[in-house]
This record gives sequence, C-alpha cells and structure tokens, in this order.
Amino acid sequence: MTLTKSIAKQVTYTDANFNHMTEEEIYEYQGRLLQKQLRYVYRNSEFYRRKFNEIGVYPEDIKTIDQFRQLPVFMNKEIEREAQRESRAHFGHPFGTNLCSSPDEIEFTGTTSGTSGDPTFTYTFTRGDLDFLNRYIAHMLDYGGVYPGDRLLFSHALGIYATSSILWGIRSHGVLPIDVDVRAGSKMILKYAEMTKPSAAMMTPSLAEHLIDKAPELIGKSVGELGLSALFTVGELGIGIPEVKQKIENAYGCRVYDYLGELGFSCDSDEYHGVHCVAPDLSLFPTDLVDPETKLPIEIKDGVIGEVIGTEFNLKALPRIRYATGDVVQVFTLECPGCGFKGKRVKVLGRSDDMLIIKGANVYPSAIKKVVANFFPEVTGEIRIVLDNPPPRIIPPLKVKVEYGYSFDKRYLPELEEKVINALHSEARVTPDIIWCEPGSLEKAMTKTPLFEKRY
Ligand SMILES: [Zn+2]
Repeated sequence: MTLTKSIAKQVTYTDANFNHMTEEEIYEYQGRLLQKQLRYVYRNSEFYRRKFNEIGVYPEDIKTIDQFRQLPVFMNKEIEREAQRESRAHFGHPFGTNLCSSPDEIEFTGTTSGTSGDPTFTYTFTRGDLDFLNRYIAHMLDYGGVYPGDRLLFSHALGIYATSSILWGIRSHGVLPIDVDVRAGSKMILKYAEMTKPSAAMMTPSLAEHLIDKAPELIGKSVGELGLSALFTVGELGIGIPEVKQKIENAYGCRVYDYLGELGFSCDSDEYHGVHCVAPDLSLFPTDLVDPETKLPIEIKDGVIGEVIGTEFNLKALPRIRYATGDVVQVFTLECPGCGFKGKRVKVLGRSDDMLIIKGANVYPSAIKKVVANFFPEVTGEIRIVLDNPPPRIIPPLKVKVEYGYSFDKRYLPELEEKVINALHSEARVTPDIIWCEPGSLEKAMTKTPLFEKRY
C-alpha cells in the first residue's frame, strides 16, 4: 500500500447519543452511571460492602466523579487474588468475593495470562454483560470495514484467556471467526488464512510482524497476497511505534488498527493518533488517572501521563471499581488531528511496575523504545535497558542497549549516537549511555519482548 495522505473516516462513539454531547455532559452522565453502579456493587458483593464500610463512605455519599476519585484504590491484582482465594474457600467458586451476580449466571470467564502468580478470573461476564460488550467490538469491526458475512482470522491464545471474549463480539456482528490458537504455530495460522480467505485478522503486533518474515518460506507467498483489508492488533506497544505500523501496513497492504478490548480503537489515519475512547458508558477510562508512585489523582488535561484506575459501569458480574490496573497511559483531550474524533484518546506507555525513576523524574522504558525506533532504518528498533539494581530508582546514567540497522555503516555510529541521545534527552527526559549491539543480537520474542536485561 502506498501511504498517501488521506483524510481518515471519523471515529464515533459506540452509542451515537454521545456524538451530540459535550465533554461536560458526558462527564455528568457518567456520574449518574457511577452512582447507580456503586449502589449495585454495595448491595450485591461482600467485598465492596466491606470496602465502603472500612473507609466509612457509602455509595449515597458520593455525588460526583471528582469525589469518587478521592477514595483510596479498592483493588489491584494482588487484592483480587486474595478475594478469589477467599471465595474459593468460602463459596467454592474462583471469581472472588467481589462477584456481584450469582455464579450460576456466568456465561464466560477469561483470565489474564499472568506471567507471575495465580491467574485471575478478571474477565467474567453474565449473558447480559456479553450482550452489552459485544456492541463495542461490532462497532470497531464496522469502522474497519468488516461486515456481516465476512470471515476474520483470529489468532491469539485461545480458551480460558481473556481475549477469547472478543470472539462473542465478532460473532454478534455476523462475522465468522477463524480462530486458530497461536500455539498451533505460524504454519497452521497461515495455512488456515490461505484456505478460508478472511477479509480481516486479529492478532498481536509481534505475531503480525513474525508472519511477514515467515509467510514466503511457509506458504510460498507474502502476507500481502492473503488479501486482508483490515488488521486489528491488541497488546504491547505495537503500532504506536511508527516503524512497526508502517512495516505491517506495507506488508499486508491494508490498514492496521490498535484496540484496547472494548474501550476503544485507533483511527484510519496514516499517522497513529492513539486509541479513541468510544465507550464512556462502559467505564471511566481514561478519566481516572493516578500518579503511579503515590496513587494520588492526577488532573486530566491534554498530554497528561498516569496509571489507569478502572471503574466499570453497567456490568453485572465482576465490575471493577477503583481498580489499579498498572497500565500507564498518556491522555489526549484535543480533537484527533487524523479523523476529527472529539473525545479522549490514549497512547499506552507501559506498566507502572516498569517505570523507572531517574533523578526524580518518571521515565517509561516504552517511551525510550519509541524514541529509538524513530531512527529506523539506522537502528532495528530493538532495545534493552540494562538494570544493575532492582528498579524503579536508577543511579544515572541509564544503560541502554540499541541494535544498529542491518545496512548501517558502523563508521557513522558516533554521529548516530549523538542524535539518539539528543532525542532521548528532549523526548523521554533521559540521557543514557548507549551500548551498541549488532542487528538481530537482542532476542525478539513472539509474544512479549522483554524491555529489561536484569543483572542483579
Ligand atoms: Zn482519529
């Protein structure tokens, strides 16, 4: 695909009523959804009842979102695990004492693949919850030009994992998922794509990149010959890195969209403008941000960075209320320069546990990666941050391994180094020591490439 400058189709809210509301009206409406949800969780879950009783504030005391944001964090992954241990012991089910419905009403449960500790059954839904959530996926597919009757290659870790819930949304839109477990391997995935001729695909950005390299060898054709008209990627930094977006779009010959579950998706613009938050009736996202270290609320304005505190409206089984997600995002409040969407947009910066503190400033490894990746093809885009001691506090200088590009003439490394350091200084507020590495020498994982090399 030739990347000509075009005007992107405007993203709209999933519920069209929001398109005619001001930000203030949406905020006020969310306040009412919040009050309703707080009363619901208080009545129906032991966990939330205990939480409110502990802090001595009750749902009827909370009149506004601003007041709500002053409350302490209710839950995080660890507290959730504890609530699930408790419900296993007392009630014989794994969903947690924060479950607000009867366990009999659950139609789907999905865990996070959790690299550490027990998996958590965070994505647990009733039939009504699924019906409610499906509309967001259908809306996104519709925006990407995927219509009823189409087929869609869906290649993630299937089964108990959270991503499987997306399959309900795909089917509800009248689209047939060709769901090939990612563990079946690249050859099977490509083979199914070749046989079923899907018009769109969903996978992680690293898998999309991996298939570009593997397709000619495994099926004797390029991924561009699969005939996809849209690709949807989820997880990782992915297409927030311009080089990755361009590489995937050029190879597949179609637009790639980035999405955050039901919360939103990126627009049909040549340049990446973040995930457009189309679901103000589903959650407070991204209006409740806190400082990753102090957990104190941060004022929402254009460009602000913070950790997402999740609070969900309308869901009945396991709605999250003031849940510290650990995800750090940057919020944009101005109209999207690509498509004109008027709501909020976010760019994911990484995890709060990845955050480094260097001379008092918060530094996100993913921000460093993005700045470096902009120098492609002089670099490959692969980096590793070398940690001599446990994070987050770093004694400067920060050491960063960077791969120079495949066809880069090493004689020009000193000049390149100066450019990279200057860019990191102005864009990521860090002045590191660069350790140059040969292209391809830093291992690239298919699921999640590590950002750190730990030497402690
Ligand atoms: Zn846009």
